[in-house]
Amino acid sequence: MMRTRVFSLLFFVFLLGLPATGAVWQVHGEPREASGPEVDFVLFITADGFRTGYVEWYNPSYIRNLTEGGTRVLQAWPVFPTNTTPNMTSLVTGAYPRTTGVANNSQYVRELDRIVGGPRDNESKTIADMLAEAGWRPAAISHFALDTRGVHGDMYHNLETYTTTLETPERIGDRAVEIIRSGEADFLAINFGSTDTTGHRYGPRSNEMEEMVLAVDAAVGRILEALKEAGLYERTLITFNADHGMSEFEEKEASMEPAEALRRAGFEVATNQNELGEDTEIIVLAGGVRLIYFRKQLSEEQQQRVMETLEAIEGIKIMDRERLDELHCHPERSGDLIVHPLPGYTISGAGNPGGLHGRLTEADPVLILYGPGIREGATVEEAHLVDIVPTLLHVVGVPPAETVDGSVIEGALAGAAAGSRPQ
Ligand SMILES: [Zn+2]
Repeated sequence: MMRTRVFSLLFFVFLLGLPATGAVWQVHGEPREASGPEVDFVLFITADGFRTGYVEWYNPSYIRNLTEGGTRVLQAWPVFPTNTTPNMTSLVTGAYPRTTGVANNSQYVRELDRIVGGPRDNESKTIADMLAEAGWRPAAISHFALDTRGVHGDMYHNLETYTTTLETPERIGDRAVEIIRSGEADFLAINFGSTDTTGHRYGPRSNEMEEMVLAVDAAVGRILEALKEAGLYERTLITFNADHGMSEFEEKEASMEPAEALRRAGFEVATNQNELGEDTEIIVLAGGVRLIYFRKQLSEEQQQRVMETLEAIEGIKIMDRERLDELHCHPERSGDLIVHPLPGYTISGAGNPGGLHGRLTEADPVLILYGPGIREGATVEEAHLVDIVPTLLHVVGVPPAETVDGSVIEGALAGAAAGSRPQ
């Protein structure tokens, strides 16, 4: 690619000793570009709700090949709650909710005094922003947190992916192949939403889930083939990842819905924007767990009543602000408390067919890295989803933006690449 060629020429000039000063290095590029791996394409694939166990259960052959030829992170930590919107945002920014401002699929925004569904007001730079600033050409298919956030106009392809039809991954694969053949992009992010929808409807251990995983795998295989045909495969850096895992519905249910318990204790409670009124004291938002916001300043007596009311619910635990801060939640938009079902419990919907997520239980998304600069056939015990962006940027030699919270997954780096980089 052009950056590499320009640099190679500079390097050659440097070797000839013509403008052989340190200043030339500083001005024209960092030495690591010469010694680092050559990467001409970055493929960022996310499959929503792709639990890491699917690799063993359903044996998707192309995805399995990526794990065998690359590095797999055994415990990939998502942001909490393990819901889609905050995790998709953190995946593409390398930043926690406290930095992105996107804390849940729906969140109470105090300065607007509104409950915002599907928040897109991410305050961090995306990997597409950072690569574009370094001269890369980003494209994306349905990776919604990148829409207008580093990927613009015709380069953003919005397909309806949150379905359970097996043709959906196929259509995404078709579009990805077109983009690769066009030669108009060198960063491509793809989001397969159908793994999440299928998991919700049929559960993670179902024939439908197996079929969907294999349909996504087939699309991945066609995308890799297109990279080979384009002569790019050997110089493509790949991540296959997910935003969270997926569990079957539990058989046991908390003894009462927290919003209902708080109402019975005499509080004015809203659970959505329509219910939010002048008198609303407490907001309770759902998504596997319950985010509890004190909209009005509560007296000490009231706060105590809130705690006693919630503590009386069987099958839950209360996570306070200290715990939420440890998990890098947003100081306001993640709530003042989170109610989390105990292991083996759900707050609502016990015994339902299908699957759920949102709890810490679903902190088991797939995470694979593959390609130049990445260790082959390796495993890393644990890393965070926010570490993916800085790791990719490190391999391609692009500095991370100040908004990046994650760090490079050192254990995933090929020895030579890891050792060649100045700190
Ligand atoms: Zn999701």
